[in-house]
Amino acid sequence: MALTTINDEIRNGHFAYYGERQHFGIAFTQHRESDALERSNFRVAVAAMSQDDKNETWAVERASHFLVGWVEYLLVKPNSAAWTIAEELRAREEEYPVLDDEDFSALEAEEREEQLQTALIGSGWSLADEGTMDTVLECDECGYRERFIDRESALAFLYDRERHEDHAGEED
Ligand SMILES: [Zn+2]
Repeated sequence: MALTTINDEIRNGHFAYYGERQHFGIAFTQHRESDALERSNFRVAVAAMSQDDKNETWAVERASHFLVGWVEYLLVKPNSAAWTIAEELRAREEEYPVLDDEDFSALEAEEREEQLQTALIGSGWSLADEGTMDTVLECDECGYRERFIDRESALAFLYDRERHEDHAGEED
């Protein structure tokens, strides 16, 4: 599979580039709004590159983008080992979209955790640790506890914005 080079993109009018790697191929991209899959594949591809050849045969370059804030490119030099690895990864991705299932699940879990921490701010609820697999939220005002089988359901609950007043009077 041929990778598109930066020169191709410049010719197609897709972007301006003033760096030194115009002839490099664009192996993978991610941007600020990329979903977990795109971000996982990007970091798996970067991890597959040899650290010894960094900046010689491959590099990660970041550009600002008027729509999505920033875009990062994994660039690989033609006729290099990095290029071959990139082509193999891209071919694999065509067969099956997830390059590394384990990494993808881990990244999804990290994202859910961040979402949960963000949703907790100012919600009137705190995460209680009962040492179980359950996710337990505790009302800051009365200590009332709600139990959830996973982070997603706790998140859905927080998005519903139940407050202390909604359960006040119920037995814990
Ligand atoms: Zn309460």
